Amino acid sequence: MLSVDAAGNLYPCTRFAQYSLRDKETWTIGNIHDGIDKNKLRPFLTLDRTTQSPQKCIECEVASGCAWCQGENFDAAQTHTVFERATAICLMHKARVRANNYYWNKLYRKLELEDLREQYEANKRIVKPETC
Ligand code: SF4
Repeated sequence: MLSVDAAGNLYPCTRFAQYSLRDKETWTIGNIHDGIDKNKLRPFLTLDRTTQSPQKCIECEVASGCAWCQGENFDAAQTHTVFERATAICLMHKARVRANNYYWNKLYRKLELEDLREQYEANKRIVKPETC
């Protein structure tokens, strides 16, 4: 999301402004006086999951729920690039997926058992006490 700082510098996102970065220099894409420099914007126009991700992320079974941030990629990269996906979230995301699967499977199983119980209750023969 285009961002602007108090000095009028433009950034592809607030995450590229100095106050958001840990070690890197800012990545401006222009300023309010001259507008956006399309050459500085160009790398962002080609970003997608495959141009940024290592092979393990491209083949990952839980990649659809794994967020990644262009600014964090830039900040965590060894060089001045946005084409290096930060994967610090990897183990935590996989653990979160497993925990969710465990919880929802348990819940579905419980609800399934309750459905059977309801069916049993709905279909059981009513035994009148006097016929016993
Ligand atoms: S969970 Fe790990 S391997 Fe999978 S997409 Fe996320 S960072 Fe990549």
